[in-house]
Amino acid sequence: MRVPQRDVPAAGGVPRVHELLSAATADAYVDAMRGTVDRVAARFRTTTQPFSGASREHLQALVDAVDLDGPGRGTAAALREVDELFAQHAVWFHDPAYTAHLNCPVAVPAVAAEAVIAAVNASVDTYDQSTVGTLMERRLVAWTAGRIGFLAGGGIFTSGGTQSNLQALLLAREHALASAPGAAGRDLVVLATASSHFSVQQSARLLGLAPDAVRLVPVDEQGRMRPDALAIALRHVEEDARLPMVVVATAGTTDRGCVDPLAAIADTCDAADVWLHVDAAYGCGLLVSRTRRHLLDGVERARSVTVDFHKAFFQPVSSSALVVRHAADLRLVAHHADYLNPAGEQEPNQVDVSLQTTRRFDALKLWATLRALGADGIGDMVDATIDLAAAVHRVVGADPDLRLLSPTDLSTVMFRYQPDGLDDARADALVAQVRRVLFDSGRALVARTTVDGRPCLKLTLLNPATTVADVRRVLELVRQAAAALVEGGDLLAADAAVAR
Ligand SMILES: *Cc1c(COP(=O)(O)O)cnc(C)c1O
Repeated sequence: MRVPQRDVPAAGGVPRVHELLSAATADAYVDAMRGTVDRVAARFRTTTQPFSGASREHLQALVDAVDLDGPGRGTAAALREVDELFAQHAVWFHDPAYTAHLNCPVAVPAVAAEAVIAAVNASVDTYDQSTVGTLMERRLVAWTAGRIGFLAGGGIFTSGGTQSNLQALLLAREHALASAPGAAGRDLVVLATASSHFSVQQSARLLGLAPDAVRLVPVDEQGRMRPDALAIALRHVEEDARLPMVVVATAGTTDRGCVDPLAAIADTCDAADVWLHVDAAYGCGLLVSRTRRHLLDGVERARSVTVDFHKAFFQPVSSSALVVRHAADLRLVAHHADYLNPAGEQEPNQVDVSLQTTRRFDALKLWATLRALGADGIGDMVDATIDLAAAVHRVVGADPDLRLLSPTDLSTVMFRYQPDGLDDARADALVAQVRRVLFDSGRALVARTTVDGRPCLKLTLLNPATTVADVRRVLELVRQAAAALVEGGDLLAADAAVAR
């Protein structure tokens, strides 16, 4: 039966069941999806810059003007509003001038699978809510574990690297407390570096560790953990009568994209019998690289690994996993509820090993992508982004107006606009202003951060379709904005310099 699309409010008290997805509304569903897909496709066809450049005041006014208590306008009108309000002013990660954060363009099969995830709405918490979906997720976890080199690994999909890291530290805490009778949370120490993701500090706080629980191990000039310094730090922990709970190594630091020396760190952790967690949220794409997998050598000796498929595998947000070397480690925090997953039940209930209860079947997107592109197909795209970054490093290095700051193992470029004669203080001040001018124009999005205590601009190149010429155009906008700021000294002049 075909139910007509209505744009008029339903009469009072009549439930609008014709907006719920069912056999009766399958045609309306097709219409809604087709219309939506057509509008999104039109955005992709016509978008020429990563952001509309609309001011926050303007966007706030648009959002505030919507009456959320008003009568329903029907699906078609609501979806037109989604397009005009959201899509029109969204930030487009696929645009070659989007170079800011760790966001990748997404694979078409993953986006299509996302539509299936939403429509079927499986929850991969208990087997009886997900059936084959749980088996597919477990297969992908086993595949990822195999790529890492875990022979009997386990794991769980999570909402992101932040949650994966939290769960890893939770498991490490339980393990440390269980293996040291009499020890308490306040005794535990987390060894990380200043380049570690902030979620490590945050997790330590959430887990109730002591305020000084996270100790920063000295790094080399590229921000990588020094194994010799780690050995010394572990000795200090012992001398202080504290207990090392975990060493967090990073495979792909958020800013510089550098990989800690995993094998040497693993040696030190083995000698001290300490849990090694490798945060590979960014660097996990190397797992499928045909030319650079060696950068992860030693990751197979970790006890837990964070991977972010939504950073390095061209997956839509959210898609991440925590993978452990011994599947049994996940059980350290298992909880059994009579109504959900009673103890002793033989079914594979993933809620037993997750921090979430109701949980999206995000694994389906990765499944579709792997089947469509093959692991090598994904890996070749990862390699292309690293090759691109290497080429851009050469371009920036050869540019007299720009200073290249730090090498990378992956795909970030850190630099500053500083022609000869421009003093450090002025160059430092320009960083935030240039980023702001470009953002306001919508024409190019770059990030800013600090390296060795000084501000700098950062490109994160995660788009294998982006060319060196594309990045040259972004650098040209940086130069124009910066030069206008230096000359005219104000943001208006710089705005005009980068306007079309
Ligand atoms: C991005 C990032 C995280 C956090 O991942 P989310 O998916 O954003 O939660 C953790 N660690 C590293 C190294 C990262 O780059």
